[in-house]
Amino acid sequence: MNEFSFINKIKQRNYNQPSLLKGIGDDTAVFRQSTQDIVTAVDTFVENIHFSKKTMTPFHIGYRVLAANISDIAAMGAVPAFYLVSIVIPTSWPERELLEIYSGMESLSNEYKLDLIGGDTVSGNELVISITIIGYVDRGKVRYRSSARDGDVVFVTGTLGDSQAGLYLLTNKNQYCDPEYFINKHRKPIPRVNFANKLNNIKRIALNDISDGIASEAAEIANASNTSIVLFDHLLPVSTSFKQFPSKLQRKWKYFGGEDYELLGTVSKKDWNAVQQIGSKLGVNVTKVGYVKYSQDRIGQVFESDGKRKWHLKERGYTHLE
Ligand code: ADP
Ligand code: MG
Repeated sequence: MNEFSFINKIKQRNYNQPSLLKGIGDDTAVFRQSTQDIVTAVDTFVENIHFSKKTMTPFHIGYRVLAANISDIAAMGAVPAFYLVSIVIPTSWPERELLEIYSGMESLSNEYKLDLIGGDTVSGNELVISITIIGYVDRGKVRYRSSARDGDVVFVTGTLGDSQAGLYLLTNKNQYCDPEYFINKHRKPIPRVNFANKLNNIKRIALNDISDGIASEAAEIANASNTSIVLFDHLLPVSTSFKQFPSKLQRKWKYFGGEDYELLGTVSKKDWNAVQQIGSKLGVNVTKVGYVKYSQDRIGQVFESDGKRKWHLKERGYTHLE
């Protein structure tokens, strides 16, 4: 494969962002920004660990890798603007499939008006895609995990566990209903950029995106905020046909499954109504699932409750270093 012609093929013909001075084609990209805060993150995905050709087309691989990055930007209350893609290419991947990966990313970047402004192309033994993403947020409006306070409402967007249900349907022989719905949720998750950004006027809100399961994301907020979180099992939102799966799997997927890229947040009781209104205006389901509770000896802990009793929820979301 010729690197020069490959880069030429993935290069955008027109850029969306007015702050961009130079995209692909020089030693660095250049953008100018003087009024907003800049957020940035990087995520790396390795073939057969984070994705597989068995369950994803190259298009979906590109789509989902970028969706995961955009979701991190959403969880800061920011709007994504640019991304850079570093790719390690094994000889077993033909150019046609690599271009499909980029077209998966492009379909999402068109939707969010992102620009691909650079990257790096090297060869290696397995396909590795690393995306750096850059976004903007109004000055001082970034949403930190450390903002949860005693008595806050805990909420989530969308439904939980669908992505893992989709993966299960792709990897197991089965006769469950609605496979397209779950598989699509797995392959094409929707990062909640608009919703998070519209929360802009709310004074204090903590946000985290659900990449590793609500149990683990709630623990991250609880830890960062020096508090604990109680989740009501009967309030956790799931899609209608999710209930067809064995209850053990439902439980595993909704608490620990991850990759739904929904948002988990906490907000004062006073502002909860405004959050619900923003959700309904945008057609995003927002569900109250619990509350924040301060107690000195329970810092960083997550509890599960049936409405009467509560018990410690172990963090068994997917963590890579276990
Ligand atoms: P340099 O040798 O100066 O590092 P390269 O030849 O690696 O430049 O890249 C040329 C241009 O193409 C740069 O703007 C770079 O950011 C971009 N680029 C290289 N590889 C990729 C890629 N895989 N995806 C997107 N942009 C890329
Ligand atoms: Mg280079």
